[in-house]
Amino acid sequence: MHKLEHIGIAVRNMDEGNALFARLLGSECYKIETVEAEGVKTSFFRVGEVKIELLEATRPDSPISKFLEKRGEGIHHLAFEVDNIYTAIEYYRRLGFEPLTSVPKKGADNKLICFLHPKTTQGVLIELCQSVTGS
Ligand code: ZN
Repeated sequence: MHKLEHIGIAVRNMDEGNALFARLLGSECYKIETVEAEGVKTSFFRVGEVKIELLEATRPDSPISKFLEKRGEGIHHLAFEVDNIYTAIEYYRRLGFEPLTSVPKKGADNKLICFLHPKTTQGVLIELCQSVTGS
């Protein structure tokens, strides 16, 4: 059984998003990290066992820019922690889901990640993530 690792939320302005979620949650974000290859800047908040990841685009052709254009601000993805992402990608492919990449990519927060296409998950973008130690 997987556990929910974090919820990703697309924001237009990270400073405003960080201030808003700090007010909502009563605690500041504990990490800000840019993943240049994905064109995204991220910040993380803890909410009990789960994290909230705010996502801001770093360039106009970023997937986050495209998401904001189409859907506006809001929940962008749910992330499930898996023990082995390579096995998980194959597992979900066999179940009929559509991984966006056949090999995982490096995400924020020391994770290997892979998304499942939302057309196969009732419109909800699902991220599979595996923690990797070190960097
Ligand atoms: Zn994420």
